[in-house]
Amino acid sequence: LKMLLKDPSLLETRGYVAGVWIQADDGATFDVVNPARGDVIAKVADLGVAETRRAIAAADDAMKGWAARTAKERAQIMRKWFDLMMENQDDLARILTAEMGKPLAEAKGEIAYGASFIEWFGEEAKRIYGETIPGHQPDKRLTVLKQPIGVVGSITPWNFPNAMITRKCAPALAAGCGFVGRPASETPLSALAMAVLADRAGVPKGLFSIVPSSKASEIGKEFCENPVVRKLTFTGSTNVGRILLRQAADQVMKCSMELGGNAPFIVFDDADLDAAVDGAMASKFRNNGQTCVCANRIYVQAGVYDAFAKKLAAAVDKLKVGDGMTEGTTTGPLISEKAVEKVQDHIQDVLDGGGSVLTGGKPMEGLFFEPTIVTGVTQDMKVATEETFGPLAPLFKFDTEDEVVTWANDTIFGLAAYFYARDVGRITRVQEALEYGIVGVNTGIISTEVAPFGGIKQSGLGREGSRHGIEDYLEMKYVCLSI
Ligand code: ADP
Repeated sequence: LKMLLKDPSLLETRGYVAGVWIQADDGATFDVVNPARGDVIAKVADLGVAETRRAIAAADDAMKGWAARTAKERAQIMRKWFDLMMENQDDLARILTAEMGKPLAEAKGEIAYGASFIEWFGEEAKRIYGETIPGHQPDKRLTVLKQPIGVVGSITPWNFPNAMITRKCAPALAAGCGFVGRPASETPLSALAMAVLADRAGVPKGLFSIVPSSKASEIGKEFCENPVVRKLTFTGSTNVGRILLRQAADQVMKCSMELGGNAPFIVFDDADLDAAVDGAMASKFRNNGQTCVCANRIYVQAGVYDAFAKKLAAAVDKLKVGDGMTEGTTTGPLISEKAVEKVQDHIQDVLDGGGSVLTGGKPMEGLFFEPTIVTGVTQDMKVATEETFGPLAPLFKFDTEDEVVTWANDTIFGLAAYFYARDVGRITRVQEALEYGIVGVNTGIISTEVAPFGGIKQSGLGREGSRHGIEDYLEMKYVCLSI
C-alpha cells in the first residue's frame, strides 16, 4: 500500500494522542485487513483507556486557547486542512479503498464529501450568532451567548471511514471544542491519515486526537464516565446507540446519534421508470449496499412492477464486482463474513416465504457477493424490518398510495426514504406522510454538507451538516443584565 502512495507518510499506524504519535503503552497492536484480498495491510497501535484519558485531558487544555481565537482564525486553519485533504485526495482514497473495499472512484468521492464538512463548518464558525431579547422589565437587558459545549468524544463506523469523522470533528472544532475520535477498528488508517493532515494544517496539538483501538466498549465507557467529556457523538447501529445513551445518562451528557435505517424506496405508477431505476441503483448499490441511507425495501406499484423489475435487472447485470483498486469496478466486497451471512439469510428468508431470485443470489469467493434482486417480497419477511446492509434489492408490490405509506412507516427506523412520482398532489401528500428525517423525491442521492442529515424515531438524535449541524456542539447561555 505504501508503494501506491505519492506521500507514504500519510500511512500512519500509530495513534495520535495529545499531539504526539504514540504506540500503545503495552505495545499492543491490531490487524487491519484488506476485505478484497484478505491480507493484513497494517498493524495499528491498540490504544486503551489510559491513552484515551490523556487525549481527553489534552483536548480540554487545548480548547481553551482555541475557543478564544477569533472564528476567522479557526476557519483559516480548517480551510488549510480542507485544502490538504483535497491535495491528497488520491492517496487518501487509496488508503480508504485498501482498508474498506469501496471502489476507488467512490473513495475519491468520499474524500471530497468528507473534506466538504471541514470547509463548510469552518465557514459556519463565523456565523455562530447569539441573540438579544427585548427586556421584560425597563432596567433589564437580555442576551444569549453561544459557547462551545466542551470536549467531544466520537465513535464512528467503518462504512465511511473519512466522512463519518469529519461530520463530527468539523462542527466540533468550528464551535471551539476539543475532539477525541475513536475510529472503527476495521478502518483506522483513514482517520490517522486525516490526523497527519490536521497537524500539518496547524490544528493545535492536543485539540484533535485519534485513538485507534480494538476495545470499543472500554473507550465508549470512558467517554461517558470522564467528567471532562461534555458531548458524545456516535454513528453506528441502533443497538449500540441505545447502550451508549444509557451510559451517557449518568453524566446527563448531550448525545448526537446517527443510527440504523430501513429506507423505503417507492416507485409509483406515474414515475419516470428509467429515472427510478437510476435512483434505485444509486441508493441501493452505492458502497455495495452498506450505508444507513441505502434503499432497503423497494415498493413498486402493481401496474409498473414487472417493467421496473426488468429494467432494474438489466442495470444490475452491468455492475462489475471486484477489487476496488481495479479500474472499472463498481462494486467491492462486503466488510466481513458476518455481513455475507446476513445477506444470504435475508435471501433465504424471501425464498422460504415464496419469493424468488430475479438475478444474482449467491456469495462469490472471499467477501464478494452477487448483486441480487428478489421479487415477490412481502411485509412479513425479514427484509421488511431488518437493515440488510448488502447488495440485495427486494421488490415489494403495492396497489394504493395509502397502503404503501402505511408499510413504509411501519418500522422503528426513520432515517431516509425515497419515492418517484410525477403527480404534484401525490408528491406533496407522500413527502408529508413519510415519517423520516430525510426524503428524496425523484432522486436516490441526498447527502450533502449543506443539508441537515439525520433520523427520527429510533434512527437517531440530532442533525449533521447544514447550519443546524453546529448547534449540537454549542451551549446557550442566557445573560440577564440589570442596568
Ligand atoms: P456497525 O455494524 O456499523 O459496525 P456498530 O454499532 O456495531 O455498527 O459499530 C459502530 C461503532 O461502534 C464501531 O466503531 C464499533 O466498534 C463501536 N462499538 C461497538 N460496540 C460498542 C460499545 N459497546 N461501546 C462503544 N462503541 C461500540
